[in-house]
Amino acid sequence: METSKKVSPREKEIEYICNSCLYPFKRKESINVTVCPYCGKRNSVEPKSLRSAQALLDEAIERDSNL
Ligand SMILES: [Zn+2]
Repeated sequence: METSKKVSPREKEIEYICNSCLYPFKRKESINVTVCPYCGKRNSVEPKSLRSAQALLDEAIERDSNL
């Protein structure tokens, strides 16, 4: 019997995106992601939340200047 196979369904997953190929993926919070699973590039992966926050900011600024 493999009791170690039990996975906690409650573990939080983080959305990442690769800045190189823009491939989005999810990994558990406990996993340290440095390599893109799609293109294999190192240090081009970052949490999507960071990226979208910045994108929203840019959008807001753009909208402001259009008024
Ligand atoms: Zn990639």
